[in-house]
Amino acid sequence: MFIFLTIVLLVAGGLAYYFWSKKQARAALLATPLTPHQRDIIARQVPIIRRLPPALRNHLDGRVNLFLDQVSFYGCDGLEVTEEMELSIAAQACLLVINSDLWYDNLTTILIYPNAFKSKQQRRSGYVVSEKEIVRTGESWDRGPVILSWAHSQQGAMNDRDGQNVVLHEFAHQIDDLSGATNGVPVLSAGQTFAEWEEVFLTAYDAHVHAVENGQRTVIDAYGATGHEEFFAVSVELFFERPKALQRDVPEVYGQLSKLFRLNPVEWS
Ligand SMILES: [Zn+2]
Repeated sequence: MFIFLTIVLLVAGGLAYYFWSKKQARAALLATPLTPHQRDIIARQVPIIRRLPPALRNHLDGRVNLFLDQVSFYGCDGLEVTEEMELSIAAQACLLVINSDLWYDNLTTILIYPNAFKSKQQRRSGYVVSEKEIVRTGESWDRGPVILSWAHSQQGAMNDRDGQNVVLHEFAHQIDDLSGATNGVPVLSAGQTFAEWEEVFLTAYDAHVHAVENGQRTVIDAYGATGHEEFFAVSVELFFERPKALQRDVPEVYGQLSKLFRLNPVEWS
């Protein structure tokens, strides 16, 4: 009995120490500033970061540190991963979570191709499953990894006012997936309700599908009409890169994303 109790106490103590030291390491990473060299790379590669108010900008460093500590980057098709690539992707991913409690808990791997890459897509029709190869610039798998084309990731970051950004898009899917299903309903922030989110996004999605089917121009990319999860992801791209356009045309969606991320990009310079 004594030995059994000793083992239980040792295991409990070991576990407590493990979680305590993990929490300490996380807090230390969050409190560590990036070097001037790293900040300089981010400012050049991800110009949207330069628009952040100073109070928010200060949140970025720690999150980028945490992200780089947690995630491993692998180059594909002979690509050699550089510091620019890691910092550009990390800064864009962390922009989504810069002011909220959301975090990429399940993500440990990012694969980078030099350019657009081929991916197999499965289609199910009744009992028949067919597979076809399609060309992609980014992909987000449930519970990771994220796969990106560097050429498109870099260009998407550099052009920060066109509403198109493959890194923000794929990481929006990662955030969506934190709820257990990538379906356009992420884990909501305090002060949000599922009923309100559903009402806003279902109404906006139906209107968007209708507009796209009728050949009307929409501020949200037509690709958003292919599914609720894609509608969420393309709305996120717009929220950060063309916030005024999103707020003007679909204010309810802007309002929900503003609550989710606790950000108000229309106020950024
Ligand atoms: Zn997508």
